[in-house]
Amino acid sequence: MGQGSITRRYRFCAAHRLHTDYLTIAENRTVFGKCNNSNGHGHNYVVLVTIGSPAADQTGRTMNLDALDRVVAERIVSRFDHQDLNRDPEFAARTTTGENLVLLIWDLLVTQVPEGQLQKVAVIETRDNYFEYTGSAAVSARS
Ligand SMILES: [Zn+2]
Repeated sequence: MGQGSITRRYRFCAAHRLHTDYLTIAENRTVFGKCNNSNGHGHNYVVLVTIGSPAADQTGRTMNLDALDRVVAERIVSRFDHQDLNRDPEFAARTTTGENLVLLIWDLLVTQVPEGQLQKVAVIETRDNYFEYTGSAAVSARS
């Protein structure tokens, strides 16, 4: 039998500004455009968490969804909702791009779900911007 998966959708609203101290003011403006505006701006972020079932049991469920909801509420939504992402300690040295956000969310969740079951984390930032991460094969192979 093949392996099924389930994707749950979560939401939070947060502000951010795309800016890095490694670039000059002009370079930041060139790279990030209006997202570098010093007043910042907000997004209604959608987070998609995909859980796979390498070891589906007799329930046919990949994971207890109440448990997943609790983990995401505690680790992700309560941390970021109505916050300024630039003030989060994890973003002290990296920009608050969707690419970095999806990696951080993966890191915050991967140790909280049954081992090997986190298949994908995705973030929808705007109508046209979607980011996803499926883990690093190189890293898992080493550990
Ligand atoms: Zn933005």
